[in-house]
Amino acid sequence: MARPRKPGRKPPRGEQPAALSPVLARVETGPDGYQYEVRPIAAARALKTYRCPGCDHEIRSGTSHVVVWPTDSPQSGADERRHWHTPCWASRASRGPTRKWS
Ligand SMILES: [Zn+2]
Repeated sequence: MARPRKPGRKPPRGEQPAALSPVLARVETGPDGYQYEVRPIAAARALKTYRCPGCDHEIRSGTSHVVVWPTDSPQSGADERRHWHTPCWASRASRGPTRKWS
């Protein structure tokens, strides 16, 4: 008679991915091929109106969006930052000149 297998043993600690440090910003490739640091802005923190370079429309205050700035400019000030609609940044790659393959 077979004994039921006990799911007793847990995997040893220390093999989990490092998910403890809250990394808010991430680095992604921008529409021009450069690396950008991307930081999400929560709606409650969006206090000003910005213009999205992706669609050239305003990002109204109170709209959650992303702010990006180039990682290769160490003194990136506010001038280098660009505020994007989140969906515009997500589809930035398809906003460039379309390449036709035939
Ligand atoms: Zn936009």
